Amino acid sequence: MPNYVVPAPAQAFLPIKGSDALFPIRRIFCVGRNYAEHAIEMGSDPTREPPFYFTKPADSVVINDADMPYPTVTKSLHHEMELVVAIGVGGKSIAVADALKHVWGYCAGLDMTRRDIQNEAKKTGRPWDMGKGFDQSAPMGLLVPAAGVNPGKGLIELKVNGKVTQTSDLSKLIWSVPEVIANLSELVELAPGDLIMTGTPEGVAAVVRGDVLEGVVEGVGTVRTKIV
Ligand code: MN
Repeated sequence: MPNYVVPAPAQAFLPIKGSDALFPIRRIFCVGRNYAEHAIEMGSDPTREPPFYFTKPADSVVINDADMPYPTVTKSLHHEMELVVAIGVGGKSIAVADALKHVWGYCAGLDMTRRDIQNEAKKTGRPWDMGKGFDQSAPMGLLVPAAGVNPGKGLIELKVNGKVTQTSDLSKLIWSVPEVIANLSELVELAPGDLIMTGTPEGVAAVVRGDVLEGVVEGVGTVRTKIV
């Protein structure tokens, strides 16, 4: 073991459905505005924009249906229900046709957002980091292996306290999973352990303490958290 001068960080991970094995998380990339109806509700033109990305820290993941503490410094905590892609084989300049060979698996996830801080950052041209990449900002469900999952089609839905707030289909992704992997791999070399949150459909809204969030991605799985 190296002689680190402060305690080394714990390895962030995702549990895997039906297995004791774990998926180690390296980085979390998130795609902005990847469903047309959500881009419109955020005030953008969905037709003209190439994909863009922001990140969350690896240790922002909340696992195993654990509670999510209401974060500090916001009065507008929004939910964003998303399909999450887990990269198993790294690469750069990956071709769209080869992209799915780089995927280890998928899970359902929530890109929780301090919307007021993000909106202020947009207005002032500042980074989104503190609106998006705060502690415990990414509840995620169990990871499932890629075999048998079609990331191009299937219901994506979120219920808050049993009531549907977001509902769409993966076929409505503006940039498909293979296209996102190919595009992102031009910007950075992808590596095993990287997660990609692929964007949220319309219906984002604020939650408060006590709310129970239950999301599903058809053919992939569920994510559940309570805001405390
Ligand atoms: Mn998002």
